[in-house]
Order: sequence, then structure tokens, then C-alpha cells
Amino acid sequence: MGAIQLIRGTRDILPEEAYYWQQVEAVARQILNRAVYQEIRPPIFEQTALFERGIGEATDVVSKEMYTFRDLGDRSITLRPEGTAGVVRAFIEHNLHTQGVKRLWYGGSMFRYERPQAGRQRQFHQIGVELIGSADPRADVEVIAIATDILQTLGLKSLRLDLNSVGNPEERQRYREALVSYLTPYAQELDQDSQERLHRNPIRILDSKDKRTQEITQNAPTILDHLGSESQAHFEKVQQRLTDLGIDYQINPYLVRGLDYYTHTAFEIQSDDLGAQATVCGGGRYDGLVAQLGGPDTPAVGWAIGMERLILLLQKLQAAPTPSPDFYVVSRGDRAEAQALLLAQKLRQSEMKVELDLSGSAFTKQFKRADRSGAVACLVLGDAEAENHTVQLKWMASQQQRTIPQAELLSMTEELRDQIDLLVGPS
Ligand code: ATP
Ligand code: MG
Repeated sequence: MGAIQLIRGTRDILPEEAYYWQQVEAVARQILNRAVYQEIRPPIFEQTALFERGIGEATDVVSKEMYTFRDLGDRSITLRPEGTAGVVRAFIEHNLHTQGVKRLWYGGSMFRYERPQAGRQRQFHQIGVELIGSADPRADVEVIAIATDILQTLGLKSLRLDLNSVGNPEERQRYREALVSYLTPYAQELDQDSQERLHRNPIRILDSKDKRTQEITQNAPTILDHLGSESQAHFEKVQQRLTDLGIDYQINPYLVRGLDYYTHTAFEIQSDDLGAQATVCGGGRYDGLVAQLGGPDTPAVGWAIGMERLILLLQKLQAAPTPSPDFYVVSRGDRAEAQALLLAQKLRQSEMKVELDLSGSAFTKQFKRADRSGAVACLVLGDAEAENHTVQLKWMASQQQRTIPQAELLSMTEELRDQIDLLVGPS
């Protein structure tokens, strides 16, 4: 019988790769803490209606990418394809609007039935932020600045920030009509998907990857020509404040986002190093969503970073270090092995990194493994050490070695820490 394999569009994150995930999570957590964003953890599945209403039925995500099923109670359930709808549902359900402006972040798995390729999976992961309760352009800039801070702190370069305004729903409606009249004479020349979108969701045609369609949309009217004075003022303020912060951007009047709920500011951060799946971060303002999901009229802005794509970039930048212990503990003989187990445990409780050899094999074999482990020092317990409650401490680099009482070793962990940090740097 063949071994069972993982499902298409999913991946195992093996230990070497998990290193990068932890790095991203640590940097993001730190930067989000400093901006006083609080973590929120909504469930991974929700009522299907939440996404239909929140994201929009005509979007690709809802119309063809959702993992939807009936549970045993005959409810229609969907694995979340994105994080915002669930966060907003929770915001409404727990009356978080009574707490003033809420700054929230989340992280975790998302599910979309897409064609798998590098940086595009069916189970993928995002970290996202939602700043709910402010219509101020500074809110847009704050979230963008947090995203660029995270990406820059991780060491990413050659990033581009594309910026657009998609206006308010009325402006978008007028733009939609203008776009349809412009595109209709070309209808037969558009790619199949775009022909279908022409009346259902024409703005998404601007996102087409088809060459001929792109040629046609190049001269299409832009949303920016359809903004009223308030939307325009908001967009200009966002640009000014970004410039104040020294954040470079380019205006891309054809940037549209895949989800229906966006209003005003829309943005994407792309990397030239990612090939076809260039976008690492996407976001924007969504002033209508809270009300649309049954809450009080509340403006909001947020983004999501695609973890897999970010990690592909990080892997190009730096190799993951192999983990190595401070001490590798070698022991042989019943009493020595028992004492070694206890010593390892106590050292760990004093914040030392300790790997215990479990083989019971000859000392020479255990020493070889100690070498390969990359440990800074080796602790050796044999019959003689067990008898006297001592241990041999051997520094791997200098091969210096001495025998000391186990109790003394445990009382000098601070000195040992300093000495190890001096040799290899703090871990
Ligand atoms: P794309 O145009 O690449 O499909 P999107 O507009 O559908 O992206 P969003 O819904 O804005 O993506 O999600 C934000 C980010 O999440 C994306 O910029 C990307 O980095 C990541 N992402 C989206 N879908 C996937 C996926 N199927 N696999 C991996 N990452 C994804
Ligand atoms: Mg998509």
C-alpha cells in the first residue's frame, strides 16, 4: 500500500523553513506591539453567508475559490478565504465599537481553491491588521507604514508600493459605467474571463493577465478621473503624509483589489523577486464593510501580508542557521545516564540549551555526535563521575577539559552563559 501524501495546494513547513516563519512572526509581533495593535483570533470557519455578504458574490474568491461544505447539522460552512470578514464579524458581535478606535491584528491559515504554483496555494497564511473606527487619512498611512516597517526590518529590498484610490461606491458606480462603455466595442477581443466580467464585475478586467486585454485596458478611463472632491482630498492627504514619512510610492490608477469591500485607498506592496506572484502585501480602506455586515457605520483600513511569498523572499536573502545546543551531554552506564538526564533538565531550567545523547553507545560514537551537534561544550558522565557526583566539562573549540562537581556546575550557570555568549554570541 502506498503512503498517503499531502493534499494538492498544501505544504508541510519543515523545520528549516519554520525558522523563517518564526522570524517573521517575531518581527511582526514586535512592530505591532509598538504600534499598540492587539491580537484577535477568530475561528477558521464561519457561516458561508459571512463571506458572501462581506467579500461580494461576484468576486473570484466567493464565486469560485471557497472551500464550502455542509456540516452534519446541515449548515453551510466555509473555511475562511481571508481574515477581514471574520475580524469584522467579531468586532460587531462583541460590540468592540464601544471601545473607540480599535487596532487589531491576526495571523493564520486561509483557504482558497486556486491553481497551485509557487507562492500560490490552497492553504496559505496571512498576517493582517485592521484599524477600525477612523476615517482619517493618517490611519491609512499608519497601516502602510507598519507594513513597510515589517518588510524592511526583515531586510527586504526592491519593494514597490502601488497606490490608488477606488473612491466611494457612487463614484465607483459611475466609473463602472464609463468603463463598460469604453470596453463594450472591444468585447469580442477580450479574454474569456474578462468577457464574462464585462457586466458582472467589469472593474476586475483591469486586473487581467491577458496580453490583448491589457493592451485594451491601457487606454481605459481611470477611477481617478471619477473621484469627487472629498475622495480626491483624502487621496491627496494620504500621499502627502506618506511623503512626510519618506515612504516611496507610485500611483497606479489601474490597481483594483479582488474583494468588493474596498473604498478610497487601495494599495499593494510588490517585489520584483517574486515572478508572477509579485504581491506580498495587499490592503486598503473598507469604510462600508462594518455596516454591510450589520454593525454601526464604521470606517476602517487594513492589509494582509502573504506569509508564503514573504518567506520565499527571505529564503533568497539568508540561509537559516542550523540550531545548536550550548551543551551536548554524553553519558554511559545506568547511574551516569540517570544523573545526566537530571543534569540536563536542571541546566535547561537555568536557561541553557542542552541536548542529551540517548544512544547509550560507546563514548567515541557519542563524542562524534557531540562534534556534529555544533555544541559549545560537552558534558561527560561515566561511572567515575556518577560515583563522585562530578561531570567533565569539555570546551569543544579549545578542547580544554576539567572535572567539577555537578552542584558546582549548576551554581555557575551565569558565568557559563557569559562565556558561551562570548564564544558564539547570544542566541
Ligand atoms: P492575487 O492577486 O495574487 O491572487 P489577492 O488579491 O487575491 O492576490 P489578497 O486577497 O489581497 O490577495 O491577499 C493578500 C495577500 O495574501 C496577497 O498579496 C498574497 O501575498 C497572499 N495570497 C493571496 N492568495 C494567496 C494564495 N492562494 N497563496 C498564497 N498567498 C496568497
Ligand atoms: Mg487571488
